Amino acid sequence: MQANPVNSKPIRRLVIVGGGTAGWLTAAMLSAHLPRDACRITLIESAELGVIGVGESTIPPFLGLLRKLGINEKAFIEQTDGCYKLGIRFRHWGASNHEYFHPFGALGQSLDQHDFYQCWLRANQLGDSSALMAHSPCAALAEAGRFYSPATGGGIGASYALHMDATMSAQYFRRYACERGVERIEGKVVSASRQDNGHIKAVQLDNGIAVSGDFFIDCTGFAARLIEGELGVGYRDWSAILPCDRSVSVKTEAVRPYKPFTEASASKMGWLWRIPLKNSTGFGHVYSSRHSSDADAKSVLFRHLDAKRITDPQFIVFKPGHRRVFWQHNCLSVGLAAGFIEPLESTSIHLIARGIEYFLRYFPTADCDPVLSSEYNRRMQADFEEIRDFVLLHYCTSQRRDSPFWRDCASKALPESLAQRIALFKAQGVLRAGVDDLFRATSWYSIFEGMGIRPRQYHPRVDDIAEPRLLDALSTHRHAIRALVASATAVDDVSV
Ligand SMILES: Cc1cc2nc3c(=O)[nH]c(=O)nc-3n(C[C@H](O)[C@H](O)[C@H](O)COP(=O)(O)OP(=O)(O)OC[C@H]3O[C@@H](n4cnc5c(N)ncnc54)[C@H](O)[C@@H]3O)c2cc1C
Repeated sequence: MQANPVNSKPIRRLVIVGGGTAGWLTAAMLSAHLPRDACRITLIESAELGVIGVGESTIPPFLGLLRKLGINEKAFIEQTDGCYKLGIRFRHWGASNHEYFHPFGALGQSLDQHDFYQCWLRANQLGDSSALMAHSPCAALAEAGRFYSPATGGGIGASYALHMDATMSAQYFRRYACERGVERIEGKVVSASRQDNGHIKAVQLDNGIAVSGDFFIDCTGFAARLIEGELGVGYRDWSAILPCDRSVSVKTEAVRPYKPFTEASASKMGWLWRIPLKNSTGFGHVYSSRHSSDADAKSVLFRHLDAKRITDPQFIVFKPGHRRVFWQHNCLSVGLAAGFIEPLESTSIHLIARGIEYFLRYFPTADCDPVLSSEYNRRMQADFEEIRDFVLLHYCTSQRRDSPFWRDCASKALPESLAQRIALFKAQGVLRAGVDDLFRATSWYSIFEGMGIRPRQYHPRVDDIAEPRLLDALSTHRHAIRALVASATAVDDVSV
């Protein structure tokens, strides 16, 4: 007979280093889950070092996160300059003057358990010439500049996320965390002391204070002060795969009516984002330093602005990729300290939340059984690789060859995982499923269709559906979407 399990020493003191979005969101999530009297949470941040302060676009799971934290969505929107987002409009990616939409939410409805996309492919062959996006409630709403009442629109699969001011949202999570007992210490970590087993024992600050802990979370951004500076964990550098390594961003005055979507417009050396907020608009140019000087990238950005600039340009240098391990000994890296993939699909804040959700699932005792960290590392790596592949899909399917940047993108070898996904899709519109898929089929279909790629044939089992029934089902669904759009409100009139 086996003995009853006996837990080793619990984590009683958790130290977060860094007070950007990653630090404060981590503090908020942990303070919501860990009883105050069981685990003391301290966050160390340095006003002198500052935060990145970009990260304005989210994806729908962010709203689920707010709900789990018990945060009132309307209050959050009001206090973060927030606006609704229905998806992303991609411009000039396939070729110049070409555009398409990547919507949130559903794309059609399955019929007799047949995937909608397969039904639509067959309907197309039968003469139904409706566009794929005519079956997306979010694409139709975005086109009309309208927003639905979530109470009525959910029935046909509409969904949304938020645009928000990055600094204001970090402040919101800071208030939330501090109200739940998180202690804040001002100071810069300059060194750390270690236990015999390699675990971090305490961090030393520039003001002479030492902060000890059972577990440390490195949220120090690109500095990666603990995971790299102290523990020497290396980086999987994806510069050879992902083309961009810099950004320049500004804010302009707000433009009305605001567009309920992010715009991502390809340039000759990268791409430009446009993110509407309630009282301003965020613009940025993500580019490749191998193909553009900072000055040229800034000029392209300035030409792209459609309202008066209200901030100075902020340049950021980054290395695409992620930590070789995210969790080493008693130290977890989260946010930019863990890694970064260009923000084309607005995934970084989501990865912060995923990281903390996984951490809570594999929450260790103070000895940190390596089996737990190893599983955590496997899952986070899978998420990073999936996002990398999805972002790369936008580049590798482009027909643009009008600049050295695009010609270089066309000549890059693809990771095996993405090459397989593309081959499978081209054969019969099938998508490779994985346990941890972040992007649903809708997202992959939207990009493939937007970039003009269709499978050679549809799934043969869709022929089981009688032709009139198939065509009728698609037409009825389009009708329901038109009704939803007609009943929706112009975005500027939506009361938050
Ligand atoms: C160009 C760009 C666009 C982006 N757009 C999006 C987007 O649209 N959507 C999205 O989800 N994400 C986006 N992101 C990512 C997003 O900005 C980050 O995920 C988010 O801001 C988290 O950053 P962070 O907290 O990890 O780092 P930072 O904001 O850099 O914060 C680091 C913190 O650590 C502190 N610190 C550093 N060193 C020390 C030290 N030695 N001692 C004590 N404290 C220290 C700093 O003072 C700061 O408080 C974007 C990122 C970039 C670069």
